[in-house]
Amino acid sequence: MYYKKNKDKAKAYREANKDKKKAYDKAYQEANKDNIKAYREANKDERKAYDKAYREANKDERKAYDKAYREANKDELKVKQKAYREANKDEIKARQKAYREANKDEIKARLKAYQEANKDEIKARLKAYNEANKIDVFSHYSKKISNSDIPICACCGYNDIRFLTLDHIHGRKHLSQKEKKIGAISLWKYVKSHGYPDGYQVMCYNCNIAKGRGRYCPHQLDRMKSN
Ligand SMILES: [Zn+2]
Ligand SMILES: [Zn+2]
Repeated sequence: MYYKKNKDKAKAYREANKDKKKAYDKAYQEANKDNIKAYREANKDERKAYDKAYREANKDERKAYDKAYREANKDELKVKQKAYREANKDEIKARQKAYREANKDEIKARLKAYQEANKDEIKARLKAYNEANKIDVFSHYSKKISNSDIPICACCGYNDIRFLTLDHIHGRKHLSQKEKKIGAISLWKYVKSHGYPDGYQVMCYNCNIAKGRGRYCPHQLDRMKSN
């Protein structure tokens, strides 16, 4: 009881003399500035080691605290980061470029190792991507040329997409050297990224090859005869 009473008293005293104490501390520090500085300098390494040990000992706690802080201030931090990136755009870009330049070989090796380790997955992803592209492109031209909702040969109506190809309606002769070099998969990407230009149709391999040999597919010649 006695202790408690005095404790409260001491607290009230400290509270009442807070500013005085602050001013006193400040004056003391100012007066002993050089001494304090010298002391700090002399104990620099010790201090450093102490700080390091402290950080090490409280690592997990600190980590958890940081994480909780980030979580609690997520939106605010996001806005801040975005503003920072925006304000330092050129500097960040230059820094990234310099980093890439300085670590060129390492980055290359890392990319290669990643590709090697994820070979099958990358291959599967690429295949799925190309398949999806094929369906998009073939659906587009089949709708346009044959008014079909599924990919279909414009000549004979065959519709197993595994045996369908994209045909240059007017042959390949008039294509530029660059266009002539484009392989099938790249051609799908090319027409899609160029807004599906005219001059293409979907054909099955039979009709495509037959047309390539004689300008017309035999199916077409049959239709001409009967008309
Ligand atoms: Zn066909
Ligand atoms: Zn045909």
